[in-house]
Amino acid sequence: MRALVKKERSPGLWLEEVPRPVPGEFDVLIRVLRASICGTDVHIYEWDAWAQKTIPTPMVIGHEFVGVIEAVGRFVHDFQPGMIVTGEGHVVCGRCRNCLAGRRHLCNQTSGVGVNRPGAFAEYLTIPETNVWLADPKIPLEILSCFDPLGNAVHTALSFDVLGEDVLITGAGPIGLMAVPIVRHAGARYVVITDVNPYRLELARKLGVTVALDARTGSLHEVMSRLGMKEGFDVGLEMSGDAGALNGMLAVMCHGGKLALLGIQSKKAAIDWDLVVFNGLTIKGIYGREMYETWYKMTALIQSGLDIAPVITHHFPFDAYEEAFELMRSGQSGKIILHWEDGPLPPGAAGLKSE
Ligand code: NAD
Ligand code: ZN
Repeated sequence: MRALVKKERSPGLWLEEVPRPVPGEFDVLIRVLRASICGTDVHIYEWDAWAQKTIPTPMVIGHEFVGVIEAVGRFVHDFQPGMIVTGEGHVVCGRCRNCLAGRRHLCNQTSGVGVNRPGAFAEYLTIPETNVWLADPKIPLEILSCFDPLGNAVHTALSFDVLGEDVLITGAGPIGLMAVPIVRHAGARYVVITDVNPYRLELARKLGVTVALDARTGSLHEVMSRLGMKEGFDVGLEMSGDAGALNGMLAVMCHGGKLALLGIQSKKAAIDWDLVVFNGLTIKGIYGREMYETWYKMTALIQSGLDIAPVITHHFPFDAYEEAFELMRSGQSGKIILHWEDGPLPPGAAGLKSE
């Protein structure tokens, strides 16, 4: 089969012919239909310090996907060939304290699809049965292929009650953008998002944000006074991984405010702990998605009208991956979908914007 492989320990990806994976007795073999590009894939492509210490080579990468079941292992009873499925990219140990307690997102020995084990940028993928999520086939494939990052957004956005609250999101990358309609759907009053990228701020406006603020030039205090907010934001969702954004957020939270941190700080971020202590802030770190409560919630949210379609801006056939990765790196995109199935791309696709 064909797959995108990190073949050498240097920047780039290689489209290679590799053996089709053989499912084990408890595994499911999935024929990949769509896969989307994540920031993690870009780190692996660029071969940054994190990728160098994390990724064994050769490695088929990619972990955001939707596909159709091709075959199942001997002991798999809940899934059959032909089912449309997506899947959780964190494979957990099942035996640690948290796994045994049903808190699998807190497993201390997680391995990652497309990171430490073969991934989804391939014609076929095999994952354990316990990682397969049966999709509602009424949900469009391109949305299902984004369930992994949508799960990050849902997990973060629903960490604290947002009904009737004012929410600040820092970072309008694909996940920050998805968080906008989620907190709207969940009943937030004002949703303010910041970024330093005008293209992404414009996408945030399409997704119904109250204010999309350019952090380079705008002031959150000014936004607050314009909106008539007196005491600060009730809930903060940090989705940029930027230390300046995190510190800016801490400074505009109301007393007793709650912060969920998804962004991975590229440098060790220093913060003003006085703001946390004297303002009584609660900070929660978010990793991955809750298995499988987040998956249940995101399915139900989409079924009840949550629309993340504007976050998906481009489609490419998988063999145009170089162009797709360059576009992703440029920041002039939302989510980018790679098509792995044979046959035509949807109208307006093949690297063109999906409007
Ligand atoms: P992304 O890199 O596409 O988005 C980050 C956005 O933050 C970009 O649009 C960037 O322009 C913006 N930004 C940079 N500096 C800023 C500033 N000073 N103020 C406001 N915005 C600023 O990433 P993504 O895929 O949307 O993911 C969001 C974050 O979550 C990333 O840090 C990513 O590494 C992290 N992440 C964490 C998990 C987890 O499990 N914890 C999972 C996936 C992604
Ligand atoms: Zn575990």
